[in-house]
Order: sequence, then structure tokens, then C-alpha cells
Amino acid sequence: MNKFQVLIVEDDPPIRKLIATTLKTHDYKYLQAESGEEALMQASTCGPDVMFLDLGLPDMDGVEVIKKIREWSNMPIIVISARSEDEDKIEALDAGADDYLTKPFSVEEMLARLRVMQRRIALLKSDTETVESSVYINGDLKIDFAAGCAYKNDLELKLTPIEYKLLCLLAQNTGKVLTHKYITQKIWGSAWDSNVASLRVFMATLRKKLEDEDAHDSMIQTHIGIGYRMLKVDGKN
Ligand code: CA
Repeated sequence: MNKFQVLIVEDDPPIRKLIATTLKTHDYKYLQAESGEEALMQASTCGPDVMFLDLGLPDMDGVEVIKKIREWSNMPIIVISARSEDEDKIEALDAGADDYLTKPFSVEEMLARLRVMQRRIALLKSDTETVESSVYINGDLKIDFAAGCAYKNDLELKLTPIEYKLLCLLAQNTGKVLTHKYITQKIWGSAWDSNVASLRVFMATLRKKLEDEDAHDSMIQTHIGIGYRMLKVDGKN
């Protein structure tokens, strides 16, 4: 039995029903809201673990809902957007959403996104338990935050200060899509276009140092036109 409670925020009844039925079948607990106001009320009174949020709501823009929730909560928010334009997703991610689904989506994809959030929550819990060690381990990557060093297969990576900062930022947000704007603001303190271009260059050199030439999958996933995401890799040991 899943103990996770999911808040479904969607004004379109067939889609809401589809999500609810799918969650029920997979033993998730769920709550439903049809408007932004209702979503904010449910979120504050019931404290769900994860929220699925439609961006086009009758009373307010979904991005406004995200901004209001982020004033007091870090609960994972997965945006559901009927609009395929990247700008809407980017705006939602910049406002603090964790992931997104574009309509139409398959229930399998929806469940997979939800599992990612569950793993992230579990990871955060174990992180807070081992906060004193301040060491990050993901597959064969290890970051010792206190020492300011990163290792791959126990060999120290020769990273420039910017590459190290970039790696730490991605690692601290494992599983989460970080937009170009978010990253450049964190690294350079601004989001100029020239910084986005620099980001691509630093990301390329970081990847080269981080990944085996014969690796099939990249640990850092590119979301074209949006940003990057560090994936949780299964440990070998
Ligand atoms: Ca809608």
C-alpha cells in the first residue's frame, strides 16, 4: 500500500477522473481540486506529498498557484500543461515546479514521474539523516562538499570553479529539471543570454570530465530549450 497522498489539480473532469482512477488502481491516496483557490486550500489543510497541477485553471494561472505554494512549502509539484510551448513549462519550472507532463500523456509516464518524486522524497529524508557527513554519492560520482572536491571512481575530478559549482547545483537538485535561467542566476547571479551560451560550454566540458566515453546514458540529461537534470544512477555497490 502506497502511503503517498497526491493532490490532483485539474478543471477538466475527464482528465481529473483518469488521473484519479490511475492513482486509485496503484494504491495511491489522492485529493482533488478544480480551481487554484481550492488547490491552495487543500494543499495547506491536507499537506499532500505531491501535487499534479494543470496550468490552465478557471480562476488563476497555475504559475500563480506554484508561486503561492513556494512561499511556505517545498512539496514536489508536477505541472500538467496542455500547451506545448516551452515558455509555459519554463515559467512554471522557474516559479518552482519540479517536473512537467505535456498533454496528452500516458498514464505510464505519469506514474513514472510520480515514482521519481517518491525517490526524491526518500533521498531527501536520507540526506537529512546523514547531513553531517555532507557527502553526495550518485553511482560512481562522489562529492565531498566540506572538502570542495568531486570524485569519479574514487579519482579526483579536475574541475574548474564554475564546473564544480555547476556540478554541486545539479547534484543538490537531483531528479529535478533546472532551467537555463535558474542555473545562470545561481552560478553568475544573472541570466543574460551570453551566460546561457557560456553555460552550454561549461556543461559540455563538465560532461566530458564526468562521463565515460563509452557510456550509453548521460548522468546529466538535457531538456532541449529548457535546461538540465541530474539523474539518480543506481549504485554499483
Ligand atoms: Ca485546464
